[in-house]
Amino acid sequence: MQRLQKPDYKPYFYDITLRDGNQSLKKPWNLEEKLLIFDAITSLNIPAVEIGFPASSEMDYLSCVELSKKADDKTKVSVLARAVKGDIDRALCAIKEAKNSRLHTFITLSPFHMEHVLNKKPSDVAKIAIDAVEYAKKNIVNPNCDIEFSVEHFGDCEENIYFVIDVLKEIAQKGATTINLPNTVERYRPARFINLVKKVKEALSDDIIISVHNHNDLGMATATTVESFFAGAAGVLFKRSWRACRQHRFCSSSGCT
Ligand SMILES: [Zn+2]
Repeated sequence: MQRLQKPDYKPYFYDITLRDGNQSLKKPWNLEEKLLIFDAITSLNIPAVEIGFPASSEMDYLSCVELSKKADDKTKVSVLARAVKGDIDRALCAIKEAKNSRLHTFITLSPFHMEHVLNKKPSDVAKIAIDAVEYAKKNIVNPNCDIEFSVEHFGDCEENIYFVIDVLKEIAQKGATTINLPNTVERYRPARFINLVKKVKEALSDDIIISVHNHNDLGMATATTVESFFAGAAGVLFKRSWRACRQHRFCSSSGCT
């Protein structure tokens, strides 16, 4: 019997409860509530925590400022920003005092969402994505801050995966070091998603970290996450939120990365 091949990399856990989970709440968490959760997450030695979405509200911006100051250099704190300059400016301002930080920006590259949600041509969306990463890279002053780019609705990109890969290659050249592949709505069996992850992994250079963010709409997010890890995704997102699964920990959602 063939033995399971052990990857030569380890999973990198990245908790996004304070951002993605927070988006699901009728009444978003204030700083005091976020501090309690942040302490609980970091007590588990989770190395990366997404602390918020600074452009979403003044309260969330101020929470991100305080959590950035509190976090030690062992914990990477990230903040979300849409691929627009205003969001990126706000996000970078919120984490300017962090010792170890990440700017996380995103846009959809799925054919359906580019046409029917953004009402834009793929070439225009590609430019927005690439320009956003370039803008972020130019405006980061903290040497301990890196950039993650998420392809919102990556699970719906089967029909244009080579377009997505071309965009991601340029995004990596502009300075993103982590490429996150969300299954924003789980519509297919894990094998189809994993096939896409493999294609991206094979196309990008080895120094780019591949991450997955699997939702649980069909109840298979854990399987998809585990198999994505063996397909080359070292980053594993971990949260409880949205259409939150009672069965297991890799949560579900819509309208988020
Ligand atoms: Zn999500």
